[in-house]
Amino acid sequence: MRHFLRSAALVLAVLLLAPIGGCSTKSRPASAPRVKNVILMVGDGMGLAQVSALMLAEEYRPVNLERATVGGFVKTYSANNRVTDSAAAGTAYATGHKTDNGHLGVDPDGKPLETILDKAERAGLPTGLVATVNIQHATPGAFYGNTEKRYNYDSISLDLVTSGVDVAIAGGRKYLTDREDGRDLVDELRKQGYVMVDSLAGLDGVTSGLAMALYEDSFPFVSEGRDPEYLPRAAAKALEILTANTPRGQGGFFLMIEGSRIDYAGHGNDTEALIGEMRDFDAAVGVAFDYADAHPGTLVVVVADHETGGLSIPAGKEDFTLPDSGVEFRWSTGGHSASMVPMFTYGSEASHFGGVMENTDVNRLITQLLGLE
Ligand SMILES: [Zn+2]
Repeated sequence: MRHFLRSAALVLAVLLLAPIGGCSTKSRPASAPRVKNVILMVGDGMGLAQVSALMLAEEYRPVNLERATVGGFVKTYSANNRVTDSAAAGTAYATGHKTDNGHLGVDPDGKPLETILDKAERAGLPTGLVATVNIQHATPGAFYGNTEKRYNYDSISLDLVTSGVDVAIAGGRKYLTDREDGRDLVDELRKQGYVMVDSLAGLDGVTSGLAMALYEDSFPFVSEGRDPEYLPRAAAKALEILTANTPRGQGGFFLMIEGSRIDYAGHGNDTEALIGEMRDFDAAVGVAFDYADAHPGTLVVVVADHETGGLSIPAGKEDFTLPDSGVEFRWSTGGHSASMVPMFTYGSEASHFGGVMENTDVNRLITQLLGLE
């Protein structure tokens, strides 16, 4: 009996230590595809305090992020700066290469880099991009754009036309029509076979094929009136179309979903806006995790590109003997910070992630798991 208890304790200790021990994390998968579908979710500016703020706002009722089976941390520094911007960080997740701040899909010398979306398209896998900002913005733009100037939306829009992406739901339609070169890229995309609409509702009834729902400009915060269900509904629509576009509907796609305006809330040190954006993003995480539950072979990786605002959540009073010392939300910068960011993974092969990772390794691991390398 005693021997049995000791063995049981040992087994329990091994089980408890396994996810932390690291021997199963970052192991090199074979080049054959190990997962069918990857949903990469990026909370722009989402540090640990931003996730904690959501949990506080929900009074510790479990949020979707807590369903993740593996947690970890990502080092976000860029090639030329300990504090990254979204262009360099997006490029790291999209290409597996660190680059200089401001560079999008190109290395520090300006040489174009192949993205995971390019590789997936080349391998015949459908791809999708969903964001709460214009589609040319740093994070979504890094998956198909190549420029040293992240705000050159005219040029990034041209890259969108040749990207081959199956489905895009975001803002930034105006950069396709109101252009220096006078081209009407909405028309050009229509001629390629895309359904081109200017709202998510415009995709009602569209269940497969090539489609872009691009709102004219960007989006307001949820706290300023954006539909609080926008991101989860956009995620569900993208998943519906991508699933239908896979061979015989049997899976095999890459989708990136960005909670873009978490970052804007951080830049504005706006706690109320932050909570609304975190709720929206977490609801989309729930949609992705549910999809993984229903579709074996689906991996969901939730990361952030960097932390924004230098948010901390100290106790309101320093006397811990009080029944409740309160909490405060203190922002320390209007810019980004150098803190590591949290990572949550769920679904097929999720255990390859975890521990402390470089942002570039997240890309390489996803690329290998999809068999694209
Ligand atoms: Zn930012």
